[in-house]
Order: sequence, then C-alpha cells, then structure tokens
Amino acid sequence: MSGLWLTLFFLLGTIVGSFLNVIADRLPAGKSIISPPSHCSACQHRLPAKDMVPIFSYLFLRGQCRYCSTPIPMRSLLVELGTGILFTFLYWHYGLGWELAITVFYCCLFVALLITDLEHTVLPNKIVYPGIGVALIVATLGSIFGFEPKSITDSGFELWIVDAAIGGGFGFGFLLIVALISRGGMGWGDVKLAGLIGLVAGFPLVFIAMFLAIVSGGLVAAVLLLFKLKSRKDAIPFGPFLCLAAMATLFWGSKLLSWLSFS
Ligand SMILES: [Zn+2]
Repeated sequence: MSGLWLTLFFLLGTIVGSFLNVIADRLPAGKSIISPPSHCSACQHRLPAKDMVPIFSYLFLRGQCRYCSTPIPMRSLLVELGTGILFTFLYWHYGLGWELAITVFYCCLFVALLITDLEHTVLPNKIVYPGIGVALIVATLGSIFGFEPKSITDSGFELWIVDAAIGGGFGFGFLLIVALISRGGMGWGDVKLAGLIGLVAGFPLVFIAMFLAIVSGGLVAAVLLLFKLKSRKDAIPFGPFLCLAAMATLFWGSKLLSWLSFS
C-alpha cells in the first residue's frame, strides 16, 4: 500500500468524478454524453483543458464560468473531491485486482444515480441497464472460471450466478411490493435499481442493502419532517439511500452480516 498508488487513485477519482458530473448533467436532459465537447451550459463557450482540471479549475475560477461568470454548481467540486476520496478508499480497501476494478465500476454507477435522483428524481435506464448487464456477465464468468468476491463465498451456493440471481430477484421483488403498496411513493426506477443492487450484492447481502436503505431513508425522512424541512406532500427520492446502502454493503456487508448472525 504505497502513497504513490493512493495518490494516483485519488487523481484518477477526481478525473472520473468530473466525467460523472457530465453524465449527471446530460443523461437526465436526454443529451449525448460524448458530443458536444464540454461547454458552459449558460454561454455555450467551449471549455479548454485549463478549465477542466478537476478541483483546481473550480477553485481557481472561484466557482464561476471564466467567460460569462455564471456560477458553476458547487456539486461539481463535491463530486470530483468525493470520487477522489472514494477511489482512494477503494484501493485501500481492496488492493489491486479484479474486485477493485468491478467495485470501482459499480460505485461510479451508484454515484451517478445518486446525483440524478437527488437533482432530477430520475434513475436513467442508460445507467441502470449497463450495470445489470455487467453484473450478469461478471457473475456468469465467475461461475464458469471459478472466481467469486470474498463477500458472497459463504452463502452456501456453489455458483456466483445463483447468488446474484437470487439477490437480484429478491431486491426487485421486494421493492416492487413496496412500490405497489405505497402507490407512487416508490418509483419504477427504484424497483429496477434494487434489482441491480441485488445482482451486485448477491444473496444474502441483498438483505443488508435493503435494510440499510430503508432504515437510513426512514430516519432522514423523519428528521426532514420533524424539522419541517419537507412536508408530507413532498416526495423524498429513495434512490440516493439505495445507492449509499449498496456501496456500504459492498464494503462492509459481510462483516455486518456475520456480526448480526453471531449476536
Ligand atoms: Zn459561461
């Protein structure tokens, strides 16, 4: 675990974070994430490389467009910084290897979904479906070639794809029931996201992920209502809680599960 690698992962994370900002800006608006090249959304001025350096450009420009002085959302900076820290943590937690690569990919999807749901209350299929595809492919390859993440080796099923399929089915089915009962409180996007999380976390960790999402979502909703920051009529998006719970489950779920089952 060298400082050089930790620094490299931080820098890589800030660059990926600035790309996640672009995805979160463009996908909910139905725009392409590749073209046109990065530009100011207010004055349309194309951004040269010096205006796209993660973290530094925002600080140097004091959070404003260089050309029209329109404020750049603080979220840009937070996502770049947050993704940098996340990548550093992931490298520290997993070390180099295929588990790191796959977890980095899933975390990027969850961060992008977290932003689009918070800001636009949408969970774009263009993010969720590739996640489902990759999760199915990886679990299938793992089942054929005999590799499995440490977190789901002790579930009793021989094949990873079985763990993944049961997890995905449970996540999808569970939130589908919640969505039908709550009649509009939970969207179709949340149901599909829960299916993705179940595939990724597998059985039995899908239970931990759903439990964490519901408890954290419930607590935050209660606090918002208590302090009158939201009224009963306001919809509080559930996707961000699902995304955070999914990441926490990937990192610490198996520890939490063994702790729960021994106490
Ligand atoms: Zn501008």
